[in-house]
Amino acid sequence: MKLSENISLAQYTTFKIGGKARFFCVVTSEDELVEAVEFAKLPKDSKTHSLPILVLGGGSNMLVSDAGFDGIVIKNEISGIKVEDKYIKDIGDDDLFVSAGAGESWDNLVEYSVRNGLYGIENLSAIPGTVGAAPVQNIGAYGAEAAQTISNVRALDTKMMKFVELSKEDCKFGYRDSIFKHERDLVTKQPRYIITVVSFKLVKNGVLKIDYKDVREYFDKKNITVPTLTDLRRSIIEIRTSKLPDWKEWGTAGSFFKNPSVTVVKFAELKDKYPDLPGFPEIGGETNSSDSSNTTGDMKVSLGWILDKVCDVRGLTVDTASGGKVGTYSSQALVIIARDGATAADVLDFSKELIRRVKDKTGIVIEAEVEWVC
Ligand code: NAP
Repeated sequence: MKLSENISLAQYTTFKIGGKARFFCVVTSEDELVEAVEFAKLPKDSKTHSLPILVLGGGSNMLVSDAGFDGIVIKNEISGIKVEDKYIKDIGDDDLFVSAGAGESWDNLVEYSVRNGLYGIENLSAIPGTVGAAPVQNIGAYGAEAAQTISNVRALDTKMMKFVELSKEDCKFGYRDSIFKHERDLVTKQPRYIITVVSFKLVKNGVLKIDYKDVREYFDKKNITVPTLTDLRRSIIEIRTSKLPDWKEWGTAGSFFKNPSVTVVKFAELKDKYPDLPGFPEIGGETNSSDSSNTTGDMKVSLGWILDKVCDVRGLTVDTASGGKVGTYSSQALVIIARDGATAADVLDFSKELIRRVKDKTGIVIEAEVEWVC
């Protein structure tokens, strides 16, 4: 493991913003990961006894503070995709286990699955980031989420310093949520688990999920009545490309906020004021499970719609104190974009302004989905 010092993190995040990491290393194997964590626990610098750890995948869902990260950044590049025969005796003819290293590109895994006729993660096409990030926030899109197909997660338990196999139940998946977001030592700021491999149970003859509005409209427009697995992947890629900014031109982390949930009473109140507001019953447990009777009683509302139609901020761009620019993307107001030297503080201030406007107009307190690293 090669350790570097004072490395700018801006180059490792899609926001292209942020200060330096005190220590930085890339790990490509479980042995190197152990070495990096041991260093964090007992750094050679005698003044410090342990260092905070930040695990970096694709850097596509974080905003690094201008002051940087006073700890060790471990860039997880443990890669590889393979069909797993470990659990094969437990499954029927139609299922297959596929495992991927945490540092593998998420979309490479989706492409691999679709190319091999395996159903389950096609709706999650073109999501930036790595395989290891998928269980952390239980990525989801267009009616599918990672938790539906994840069978096991292999991770280094940094407290016990041993590798563990976590079952789906152990991961406690929720809406864009899992234990990996919460289990962290409060004193050392070290995550309890660092994911190295994720295993998925995919299906050879699955059923496509095509009921989201954007997807239905795509197929209607193309006159495709019976889409294939490949058609669905292509549709999701095209929909996402049309809604998201060009990463080369803009700094961005995609959707900056979570779509909020409100009570049915609150939803009715908002509907009175804004009759076209889209809302959907929230499903309990694994949020997109096929058991749609398992509703929580709350309603998911479209924040992109609220920012656009209620707050009128879609495409808004402001000049910042640093001389940069921040704004919302013209095709999707949920996406914050930054350029021309905008700082993390500029983005944070702008996000607070959006939070304030949504609260003033609707009473809803929205939360960032993007992780703030400081
Ligand atoms: P959207 O399609 O405008 O949807 C807005 C909200 O309405 C979401 O909460 C979505 O739930 C819900 N919704 C829409 N159609 C629904 C249906 N037919 N049944 C049940 N719920 C429905 O959202 P968007 O912002 O353009 O994003 C498109 C998709 O990408 C969404 O599924 C969104 O969740 C996903 N996304 C995921 C991440 C992530 O994993 N970190 C980040 C950004 C966007 P769901 O959220 O449950 O789909």
